[in-house]
Amino acid sequence: MIDLHCHTLHSDGTDTSVRLALLADEAGLSALCLTDHDTLGGIPDFLAMQPHAKARLLVGTELSCRFLGQSLHVLGLLVDPGDARFQSRLTELRGRRDDRNRRMAVRLTELGFPMTLEDVQAEAETPLLSRVHFARALAAKGHVRHPQEAFERLIGDDGPGFVPREELSPSEAARWIREAGGVPVVAHPGRFAGGSFRWDEAMRDLQREGIEGLEGYYGEYRAAEQRYFVELGKRLDMVVTGGSDYHGANKPGIRLGVGRGGLKVPDGLLEALEEQQRRG
Ligand code: AMP
Ligand code: MN
Ligand code: MN
Ligand code: MN
Repeated sequence: MIDLHCHTLHSDGTDTSVRLALLADEAGLSALCLTDHDTLGGIPDFLAMQPHAKARLLVGTELSCRFLGQSLHVLGLLVDPGDARFQSRLTELRGRRDDRNRRMAVRLTELGFPMTLEDVQAEAETPLLSRVHFARALAAKGHVRHPQEAFERLIGDDGPGFVPREELSPSEAARWIREAGGVPVVAHPGRFAGGSFRWDEAMRDLQREGIEGLEGYYGEYRAAEQRYFVELGKRLDMVVTGGSDYHGANKPGIRLGVGRGGLKVPDGLLEALEEQQRRG
């Protein structure tokens, strides 16, 4: 069993990379790929755990794109952490995120929920601030009762306090990932556009833009969704990957490797992914 999608406190998770390496062995995984949003900041500590871990520890990241007017996440699996151009591209993405965060604090304040970036930073152990930290800050200041209510009332994708970031196009993300030696894969396509989206045509378009795979196994999929996406990947000759999208305490109920309990990502997918990486 493997898990090719998870987050540490370097982005919006709550665990250290060292803890994730230990959890991989506890879960009996043969491989774990770390995929923090817009950063490889957790990677050095993660890779330093390799001599102590049974599981293979692999490098990845998750980028946000704009596709058909909605946010689409793309995993860059097996990217080279030593690629200086990719690192500077990630730095640029984090700069765009900082701009968005500043504007979102102002927007929330204007809406009557006074908020500064310092308030948000107080809820984060990383300089990479995301909406999960805004949600916690809104709760800490008593503007909402709990972080989930912040998403429901204010900062969900359609909420009045949400400010979008300038996002990549899928072709740009695919090119950046490929140029860093990785494989670009659509993350959780079943979560796109509210979940009822018909993917067949759109996935072909993404493939033409350079996307090479899709996440067919996912921590929150129902059995029918898993069947649909695994089959779609096969039909389009795309690489199929899978992961839990573990975020620690920021996504209660999702466990590393097993998701809600029933996730099982076959080892063979990693061999196919590495084959795809070599094919380029
Ligand atoms: P950001 O990248 O800063 O826009 O934040 C996106 C993150 O916020 C996602 O990766 C999720 O972890 C979280 N998120 C977004 N929408 C929701 C929601 N409706 N409920 C809970 N968490 C959410
Ligand atoms: Mn996340
Ligand atoms: Mn995602
Ligand atoms: Mn994720």
